[in-house]
Amino acid sequence: MSYKIPLFDLNFDDAEINAVVQTIKSGWISTGPQCGEFERMFADMLGVEHALSVANCTTALHLAFDALDIKEGDEVICPSLSFVATVNAIRYVGAIPVFCDVSSCEDLNMAPLTIEKLISPKTAAIVVMHFAGFPCKMNEIMDIAKRYNLKVIEDACHGPLSEYEGKKLGTIGDVGCFSFFSNKNISTGEGGMIVTNNGELSEKLKLKRSHGMTTMSYQRASGHSTSYDVVTLGYNYRMDDMRAALGIEQLKKIRQDLNRRAEVRGWYLEELLKYSHLLYIPFRDHKDFCSNYIFPVILKDEVAKSREEVRDEMHKRGVQTSVHYPAIHRFSIYQDFVNTSDLSITEYVADREITLPMYAGLTKSKVAEVVNTLISAIS
Ligand SMILES: *Cc1c(COP(=O)(O)O)cnc(C)c1O
Repeated sequence: MSYKIPLFDLNFDDAEINAVVQTIKSGWISTGPQCGEFERMFADMLGVEHALSVANCTTALHLAFDALDIKEGDEVICPSLSFVATVNAIRYVGAIPVFCDVSSCEDLNMAPLTIEKLISPKTAAIVVMHFAGFPCKMNEIMDIAKRYNLKVIEDACHGPLSEYEGKKLGTIGDVGCFSFFSNKNISTGEGGMIVTNNGELSEKLKLKRSHGMTTMSYQRASGHSTSYDVVTLGYNYRMDDMRAALGIEQLKKIRQDLNRRAEVRGWYLEELLKYSHLLYIPFRDHKDFCSNYIFPVILKDEVAKSREEVRDEMHKRGVQTSVHYPAIHRFSIYQDFVNTSDLSITEYVADREITLPMYAGLTKSKVAEVVNTLISAIS
């Protein structure tokens, strides 16, 4: 079905089309010069030493846990209110997810104090997810990590260019992982990036990204080397040059795209604040630069209708919505991992959250229409 106002719209034009065509015409379509350029641009944009393009963020997360030596039996503190890949990657290395609740309906990130209470002698790492691009309290989290000698992996899928006290998200922990799946702030179809300021770790990630091989085929094709060794267990988690060409064009637009999203968020807040008896608006007072990946609202208990009833009504009126997220700890494969920690806020949000349309092309009148549709669907 096609919606009058979709949840998301690609910010693509002839620039993306031409970039892919040029790459195909160049005769090199797998990992090569476009990936290199995309990585340099991304690293510069974030002010980080190393950026490695990968097939998607799920592979980035797997590489991160693997290269940081998180292993079988280790515990990793993680959010349950995230996309399942955040936690699946913990399982890929045999580690155990320890689910942590979010702070409140106004702050959908894990609270540092709650994280600290979940630490055990087996804890090896914390994976944080910056919900919608709004930063977790990274000073406190990095301080906890230092005191208990834990690694910090940032799932920064929602937050390219989002800032926390002047630092870009993804550059604060040991590694940051990004996704360029179609509906993310930067779209390449499938795609991802892993960033770090640790040179040694970057070399390890680079090896593991490509079978543990000491050279890649582009280097061999361009005559820089003729043979290779395999020095660690690796994977094929590379990006290709067609996707990197798309990514380069997307990066040229990202600032402007995010500025427009900030404007859209402003219009939403203007329209929605008068309904604060019915809705929580997460991060409503946040002021720092933010990617605004999505615009979530949460139905308060005062709303008698179920979230599904409200969404169905909105869909009938042509407004597409989504849910971020079903709680991971409730999925069949994770029920055995549910610990004693209280996940009641996560469960409330998972049952009552509605994600409203958010993209750079939204206009003020469309935002007003979304809000009118939501409010009449609630009543
Ligand atoms: C999209 C997303 C992922 C997975 O990214 P892929 O590139 O699709 O593998 C992981 N975590 C979060 C929070 C995401 O939003």
